[in-house]
Amino acid sequence: MQGLTFDNRFVRELPADASRENRPRQVEGAAYSFVDPTPVAAPRLLAHSPEVAGELLGLTEAEVASADFAEVFGGNRVWPGMEPVAACYGGHQFGHWAGQLGDGRAISLGEALATDGSHQELQLKGAGPTPYSRRADGRAVLRSSIREFLCSEAMHHLGVPTTRALSLVATGDDVVRDMFYDGNARAEPGAVVCRVAPSFLRFGTYELPASRGDRPLLERLVDFTTDQLFPDLEGDRDQRRSDWFAEVCRRTAVLMAHWMRVGFVHGVMNTDNLSILGLTIDYGPYGWIDNFDTNWTPNTTDAQTRRYRFGQQPAVAHWNLRALALALEDLLPADALESGLQVYVDTFQAAHARIVAAKLGMEDCQQPDTELVQELWTLLQRGEVDMTLFFRALAAVDPASPDPDALRECYYVDETFVAERDGLAAWLDRYAAALGRLDSDSRRARMNAANPRFVLRNYLVQEAIEQAEAGSTERIGELLEASRRPYDDGPEIARFCQKRPDWARVKAGCSMLSCSS
Ligand code: AMP
Ligand code: MG
Repeated sequence: MQGLTFDNRFVRELPADASRENRPRQVEGAAYSFVDPTPVAAPRLLAHSPEVAGELLGLTEAEVASADFAEVFGGNRVWPGMEPVAACYGGHQFGHWAGQLGDGRAISLGEALATDGSHQELQLKGAGPTPYSRRADGRAVLRSSIREFLCSEAMHHLGVPTTRALSLVATGDDVVRDMFYDGNARAEPGAVVCRVAPSFLRFGTYELPASRGDRPLLERLVDFTTDQLFPDLEGDRDQRRSDWFAEVCRRTAVLMAHWMRVGFVHGVMNTDNLSILGLTIDYGPYGWIDNFDTNWTPNTTDAQTRRYRFGQQPAVAHWNLRALALALEDLLPADALESGLQVYVDTFQAAHARIVAAKLGMEDCQQPDTELVQELWTLLQRGEVDMTLFFRALAAVDPASPDPDALRECYYVDETFVAERDGLAAWLDRYAAALGRLDSDSRRARMNAANPRFVLRNYLVQEAIEQAEAGSTERIGELLEASRRPYDDGPEIARFCQKRPDWARVKAGCSMLSCSS
């Protein structure tokens, strides 16, 4: 790993915790604490992303396969140039201020200089306790690590802003988890994922010093962010701060539009899980929409109020941005914060309108709340229709003679299709009439570029997890491969582009997940 060089701006520019004591505690006046990963029994590389390793970080396949790599990215060795730290942040969890949270099981190794000149923070998740671990063990189980590893790469290839994943390393240690919170804890294999992003700063990073009235720290964090992470901002300091907030709002809006486009449900949109860079971050009990259902949440902890349900995500992002705005209110003028929040609303509306138009193969759609579109959402929701299959099948429908039977396969219950068939036929006629001037080929190409054929369905990952727990990483490799070309029509990935099978309907891991990861 000779080519891996580091420039640790975060550590260099921001104040460190004076104590090096690795026990749970409140950390004040500091952006992070120095803490080394806790060694594991037998680190073994299970999977890696060739794009992140090779293209982004310039590592050769031989380097990735070396014993050094598994040692370093399993947490047993600190490579020259790395300065491991856990970041200090707070957050609103399920709408309530939770105080200090911080990296309880994530340890950032350093900021690698990437092949494109960017800084890329390499962060181990599951690397052992930190001062922010509270009562937990700092570890991650294999199942949740596989989910994060695969999904971050799948999201990248779908064109959704996200943190990336370099590697998945089995630790050889057991981790004890009570998956259903029912008193039946069991030992599971542990793992460590190395995540990669220009920064892992979150909304909660700024909320914590604001809540403590620590204005000096808050200002240093904001200045670090504007200067280092948003170098394109122009003007004096106050201008850059205002433009920065508006840019965070803009990026968050774009991110929400993408999640709604591909049917991704984050599951835990607490403010500590929203990236200041507008990336999808912290893959926990996330899930993918099979049958279109705006009320669905993958998170068992959220089953009662469904705060983080699919259809609610754009509104929650706005709520979270408002929490961020409140944290910044001493630093930015009120009108800058208000206009930033308006940027969120306007950007989301415009991006969502563009996306709906693209999903439907229309040239443009000024108002995604037109009757035609609203009726479609109702049809999909009521009919228990597979969202991903539906939009790909719709692209193949001939507007000259739209045939509802071409969409039959997308319904989870055939009797429902039969009952809904007339309504669907009437909608298809109106849709065909509204399509406008695009010829069939352009329309289909436009739709197939907006509507993925492959998404990382919950049951697919669950199968990969079960195989991995039984000793085979083959399916992880196959899914990683399939996720590289999610919009392709080819036969290679056809077996992973099917409706959720019946057995997966209510199975744990395929329908809902707990936070016990
Ligand atoms: P999450 O909502 O999963 O992003 O986690 C919320 C907080 O709990 C963060 O501060 C995490 O670092 C912390 N946390 C979650 N799991 C663990 C664990 N196994 N050990 C220590 N801290 C954890
Ligand atoms: Mg988190």
